[in-house]
Amino acid sequence: MSAICPRCDSAKARRLATAPVDGAWEIFGCPVCFFTWRSSEPDSITDPKRYDPRFKIDPQRIDAIPIVPPVPGKRPQSS
Ligand SMILES: [Zn+2]
Repeated sequence: MSAICPRCDSAKARRLATAPVDGAWEIFGCPVCFFTWRSSEPDSITDPKRYDPRFKIDPQRIDAIPIVPPVPGKRPQSS
């Protein structure tokens, strides 16, 4: 089953797991922005239209997002 990612609006999100006993929840994951969520979370997390716009991600800009903190360079080897 596919789903729309609440964070980046990608249609590539997929169901990753379903509650084993009663199907009470499902877990979804987005391969574009790596957001994951449960179906049992509030609409503000699961519904793309209600997801806080401050935390939305534009997939076109993912490559430009800096890595924080940056990984420092290797120290010179002491001998
Ligand atoms: Zn996403």
